[in-house]
Amino acid sequence: MTASFSNLSLAEPLARAVAEMGYESMTPIQAQAIPVVLTGKDVMGAAQTGTGKTAAFSLPLLQRLLKHENTSTSPARHPVRALVLLPTRELADQVAQQIKMYAKYTQMRSAVVFGGMDMKPQTLELKRGVEILVATPGRLLDHIEAKNAVLNQVEYVVLDEADRMLDIGFLPDLQRILSFLPKQRTTLLFSATFSPEIKRLAGSYLQDPITIEVARPNETASTVEQRFYAAQDDDKRRVVKAVLNQRGIKQAFIFVNSKLGCARLARSLEREGLKTTALHGDKSQDERLKALESFKKGEVDLLVCTDVAARGLDIKDVPAVFNFDVPFNAEDYVHRIGRTGRAGASGLAVTLVSPSDMRLVSDIEKLIKTKLEVEAFPLEDDRSRANLNEGRRDVRRDERREDRRPERGFERRREEDEPRDRRSSFRPAQVSRDPFFEKPYEAPLSEQNGPASWEASPKTAARPGLSANIKTKRKVAALFKAGE
Ligand code: AMP
Repeated sequence: MTASFSNLSLAEPLARAVAEMGYESMTPIQAQAIPVVLTGKDVMGAAQTGTGKTAAFSLPLLQRLLKHENTSTSPARHPVRALVLLPTRELADQVAQQIKMYAKYTQMRSAVVFGGMDMKPQTLELKRGVEILVATPGRLLDHIEAKNAVLNQVEYVVLDEADRMLDIGFLPDLQRILSFLPKQRTTLLFSATFSPEIKRLAGSYLQDPITIEVARPNETASTVEQRFYAAQDDDKRRVVKAVLNQRGIKQAFIFVNSKLGCARLARSLEREGLKTTALHGDKSQDERLKALESFKKGEVDLLVCTDVAARGLDIKDVPAVFNFDVPFNAEDYVHRIGRTGRAGASGLAVTLVSPSDMRLVSDIEKLIKTKLEVEAFPLEDDRSRANLNEGRRDVRRDERREDRRPERGFERRREEDEPRDRRSSFRPAQVSRDPFFEKPYEAPLSEQNGPASWEASPKTAARPGLSANIKTKRKVAALFKAGE
């Protein structure tokens, strides 16, 4: 049974905003969390990005705060009533954009503050008064110290992507921020996983929380079809192209484990005539913006990226995600494939497994508690059938080892978003606002008008349906014994 927003008795301005967003029914996290948050209880929610969790907490929170709505111009009448904390500027910006849309027919004011931007405009906005403040922890502490943000009237605090915040090392900053808040408040914690650290955090700061798990922790979105194909490193590009052709897929994210590997792969694909761009931590903010914008416009078909660079991007409904490298960290697998099949859309996640990757695949199996089948993907010369246990010697092995150094520390280069005890006196230059987060991803026009670059060559023209060599399409529910 699909739950409708009309059953919630949302206040008219909120219901109007939701209707305008075009949401037809609630997502599972919304159906479960909204009624609970409306009662004012603390919530511990297991949900990954793309499940609709922003609306799950912000709609009931706005509804509860409507009693404070007023049109006064006095800042004193607009104290911070709700604080939403997120690990990265991209996520903070995305969530703030969504909250603005849900609150657009109310008098509630919201603002976002994160590092890497001039503090002055943020200060002016805070001084005018805002009811809902979205922030990354480091920059918020700057504003608290500068007395721009006063938090003694906060009624709601949301710790969103809490696992990521702990990964980045934000725990001391979170503890400091929480010490400024009134004891009497509602605390909502959302995390993709419930690790022991997350449980400890919840134990310290949440009171009798209601636990909401729409999917088991670490379970992957059930709308994603997951395939694992055996492929030698040298064959992986051909497998990617073959899958794109066979499935008639127009655009895809391709994940790799290192910045160097990212740049190299993007160059190789580009040389092979595929419209490709790269997104990794060595790119400037401006280059990253351009890369994403060109992907969104459909000027490029493939976005090759590393985990940290792609984290939190709200590009909805990307038809496919490729794990060109199996991630070193099994949790990154869950995050990567969350880029496709978001908010109800179906998606395909293909992981290319070379012989030396089998241990990483078993890590993923353990995390998602499901047996995964690595299938052969026969290419013309059939090299990918190689025995998985027979690790091939490769003259480029050292080079690959270098490639495989994981990219870490992208956020950490962005000092104001960084945990305080790790900061230096360096302050990055002001960067412009990310405009592509202001509108959701739409399938590019080129999708309707013309073929993707890999479809252009007659040799590789797309075949309708599946290759005879691929097993019948199985939904992830079957693979993952959903609901267990
Ligand atoms: P989130 O998990 O909050 O980042 O949401 C992911 C995307 O799903 C956002 O772009 C939302 O606009 C969209 N979304 C949220 N709730 C719904 C819904 N009930 N129906 C359709 N789309 C939704």
